[in-house]
Amino acid sequence: MKRDIQKMYDLPSEVKFCKKCTVSNQRPRITFDENGICSACNFAEFKLNGIDWEAREAELQALCDKHRKNDGRYDVIVPCSGGKDGSFVSHMLKYKYGMNPLCVTWAPLLATELGRKNLDNFIAAGFDHVLGTPNPKVTRRLTQLAFRYIGDPFQPFIYGQTNFPLKVAVQNDVALIMYGENGEVEYGGSMKNAFKPTREIADHDGHYFSGKPPEFWEDHGVSRADLAPFQAPPIQKIRDNKTEIHFFSYYKIWDPQECYYYARENTGFTPNTERSEGTYSKYASLDDQIDGFHYYLAYIKFGIGRATSDTAHEIRDGKIDRQEGIALVKRYDGEFPAKYYEVFKDYCEITDEEFDSVVDSWRNDHLWEKVDGEWALKKAIYDELNRG
Ligand SMILES: [Zn+2]
Repeated sequence: MKRDIQKMYDLPSEVKFCKKCTVSNQRPRITFDENGICSACNFAEFKLNGIDWEAREAELQALCDKHRKNDGRYDVIVPCSGGKDGSFVSHMLKYKYGMNPLCVTWAPLLATELGRKNLDNFIAAGFDHVLGTPNPKVTRRLTQLAFRYIGDPFQPFIYGQTNFPLKVAVQNDVALIMYGENGEVEYGGSMKNAFKPTREIADHDGHYFSGKPPEFWEDHGVSRADLAPFQAPPIQKIRDNKTEIHFFSYYKIWDPQECYYYARENTGFTPNTERSEGTYSKYASLDDQIDGFHYYLAYIKFGIGRATSDTAHEIRDGKIDRQEGIALVKRYDGEFPAKYYEVFKDYCEITDEEFDSVVDSWRNDHLWEKVDGEWALKKAIYDELNRG
């Protein structure tokens, strides 16, 4: 079965790359200005020059004061997998701003040893924590279906990961949920929330639930009860709780590398000893063996792999220049996640042929062509290198 990715995600038919970073206009919801600069780059510029960070600090203090309870109850929910970002936010809120956070993790599909160790270290650094673990059989079934029908094995995980903090917030009468970075803004996406600290509750489904309705899953043998752990609490309960979802990146300059240094120093975070497949970094997204396939499928669907996202962010942060970024994309983007391929096939109960046929069904003609029998991007950013 061939799908029309271009139509599905409303992607421009002509691929264009940002003049400043490495991202293309194929990233869903990203926008480019008249000078060919992407929304994330413009936002990064604005972060450096257009924001009064002292005023933001005062806003954060005021937000904490508004929600601080001082009576032993939790006053903020922090989603944290034990990775560098959530660890940074949790630690800052608790130890710098005097909040009483309840940290929440949605269990990985297949945890890595390093991921589990980082989570343990994080909790041991002094946090109350709850782990949401849905029925592994259901999770596995949902992952299999999502790989085949949504082109992203990670979608059900993302549903659960997004909704679990909302549930814990409602259950514990905690109105404030604090995320780390606003990915839509930092990596390029919808800019409607770029200039405010919160995500509207109503946006919740719009960004991440474009996949399939409950009926679709039921048709494939997943009951409503099976799905429940992955779904949001009723909207009225969320509203009655006066739930507010905030991003720490609104209040502090968000720099992934600085989060890493902070987490290493304060919460026992350990990076990988080798780089993650598909990119050159050693410290992001380490906790799930299935992770690499989420990034790989994004590369197939949008031509945007993990190295593109990482280099684009680092160019905006001034860590590397665009030429270096392009060279890194050429070297690593779209690298096949071979390390856990056997694990993934076993988890999804598929053969090599089935894997290939699912992957190929997500290749769109406007991005891909066969050259000498091998799939190749029709237009890659490193083509610019050859042109000088
Ligand atoms: Zn850009």
